[in-house]
Amino acid sequence: MKAARFYGAGQPIRIDEVPYPEAGPGEVVVRIAACGICGSDVHFLEGLEPPAPLPLTLGHEPAGIVESVGEDVHTCMPGDRVALHVGNGCGTCRICMAGHPTSCPSIKCPGLHIDGAFAEAVLIAQNCIVPVPDGVSLAAAAVATDCVATPYHALKCRAQIEDRARVAVIGAGGLGLQGVALARVLGADQVVAVDVSELALDRARRAGANATILSKPGEDVGARIQQLTDGGADVVLECVGLPDTVAIGAAALRPGGRLVVVGVGMEPPRVDIPMAFFAVFELTILGSFGSHVRDLKEVLRLAADGRIDIEHTISHRLSLDEVPEGLEMLRTKKGDPQRIVVEPES
Ligand SMILES: [Zn+2]
Ligand SMILES: [Zn+2]
Repeated sequence: MKAARFYGAGQPIRIDEVPYPEAGPGEVVVRIAACGICGSDVHFLEGLEPPAPLPLTLGHEPAGIVESVGEDVHTCMPGDRVALHVGNGCGTCRICMAGHPTSCPSIKCPGLHIDGAFAEAVLIAQNCIVPVPDGVSLAAAAVATDCVATPYHALKCRAQIEDRARVAVIGAGGLGLQGVALARVLGADQVVAVDVSELALDRARRAGANATILSKPGEDVGARIQQLTDGGADVVLECVGLPDTVAIGAAALRPGGRLVVVGVGMEPPRVDIPMAFFAVFELTILGSFGSHVRDLKEVLRLAADGRIDIEHTISHRLSLDEVPEGLEMLRTKKGDPQRIVVEPES
């Protein structure tokens, strides 16, 4: 079968012919209908090497149809429409038992640790399979696996957003935009979106933000959020991953507020608050990565019930041969891409 493979930073993605996967015990082969292209795929090309021997088939946001199942598979049957929750841990180690399966030391995510879903089919463990409800397209389900489930997990499970919350979302790109919509669905009264692009803020307003801040150099965005939320945000969702945006997020909190960092950056975070204030105001800074299977089930249910719109965020649909162009489009932002999905059968 055809697969789009990564050979190392700075090297072109190649469309190779690779063996069709075969399901062993507890494993499932899924024929890919759609797989989202993610910012992390672009990070790999730019030098953040995936933790796997190369070459590696990329693609970690897949949905498709179950083709075959191995022995002892009870979660699905051939023909089922499914989304793949690639970031699921072993379920039995100390970290998984403590409730952090995405940090499981023996995790094997397709597209990161093992061959992924920019291919005609992918092999996956049965505990990663989530059924897609009627009325949700497989392309929307693919986008849900990461771009929607990740901010949902951050807001609901990590920050434990409360009803009528005042929320700030820093960075209104893919994840942030979904974060704006999800904050409203999860009961937020007020959502302030922050970005450097007027276009992104426009989308954020349409997704449910009732205030926006166009961030410019030298502007005290934290103070602006304090003012707009009348005393600080209950929850700040940071989707950029830069020291500056983390500092803004921490400065925007009300006493007892929670800053949840979803952005992935390699620099240390910065917090410009005197330690005494940090203690006195009982502030919390949380990391959040990916989501749990339950989160994916819940966002697919929200999509099926029409409470969130994923379909309209898909701006480009590409074939497998066009994966290199898709990655380049996401890197340069040329053509204003939002979510790009690869549809191997198109
Ligand atoms: Zn991703
Ligand atoms: Zn584990």
